[in-house]
Amino acid sequence: MFRIIKLMGVACGIAAVLLHGSPAAACGAPRQAAAVETFQMAAVAEPVQEAPESVETSAKPKNLAELRRQYSETFKFRGPNVKKIALTFDDVPDPRFTPRILDILHRYDVKSTFFAVGHRVKKYPDLVQRIHREGHVLGNHSFTHPQFRSRSVKQFQQEILRTEKTLSGIIGYRPKLLRPPYGEINEGQVKWAKKNGYTIVNWNVDSLDWKGIDRTKVKANVLNAAGPGSIVLFHAGGGTGSDLTGTIEALPEIIETLRDRGYQFVTLPELLNLPKYK
Ligand SMILES: [Zn+2]
Repeated sequence: MFRIIKLMGVACGIAAVLLHGSPAAACGAPRQAAAVETFQMAAVAEPVQEAPESVETSAKPKNLAELRRQYSETFKFRGPNVKKIALTFDDVPDPRFTPRILDILHRYDVKSTFFAVGHRVKKYPDLVQRIHREGHVLGNHSFTHPQFRSRSVKQFQQEILRTEKTLSGIIGYRPKLLRPPYGEINEGQVKWAKKNGYTIVNWNVDSLDWKGIDRTKVKANVLNAAGPGSIVLFHAGGGTGSDLTGTIEALPEIIETLRDRGYQFVTLPELLNLPKYK
């Protein structure tokens, strides 16, 4: 149960994908918790049977914290202890929200990082081109927005490479940065990412904006937690019924407040001292 609750607190919910049936429906509403729970039970149910004595208990799948520790060069969730912050926006492109986010970033001259979902990239290539043209960095957020932890390495690879091909045809580079949907990934997938030169980047500050919360809550979630080297998770796209008004309204105040506190906004490659391409 603890694991389930913990997972639900991470990034956008899983329920939207299950209930709306839309592969890129990014985020669920809290009332859909039952579906999330069922799904997670299935996803983590493997070690329930008692293992024979000869089998070591280390066969249990590693959780995200363990994976981050073990693969710290490949799996990042924060930057170094400097007065810089990276704003990141998942589930783009989405004509309902992405242009408004881009307008704000342009107004404040803030460069950030956008994690794109491949099948949306195919649908709205001009919007991806705009993100790129305005100086932001693009990262890979899968093709259909699945819950990777319960998928095979092969499925992971197919999702990543398909998105990479679509993206690179528009922006001219193959993104080095990967962010798995919901931040969820298993060890085999991390190993594949490492071997193939990707860096997985999650976050350490979660706006929880996918819940459709208002500007005050979005602002509090970010400003109460942001510090040196923070990577902040927002969304600039969503599933059916998503409402990111809270993000759009809070963003100017968040930028102004953090600037007043002396922070500089940078892209993830700049914060992590990495190239944006492979
Ligand atoms: Zn997402």
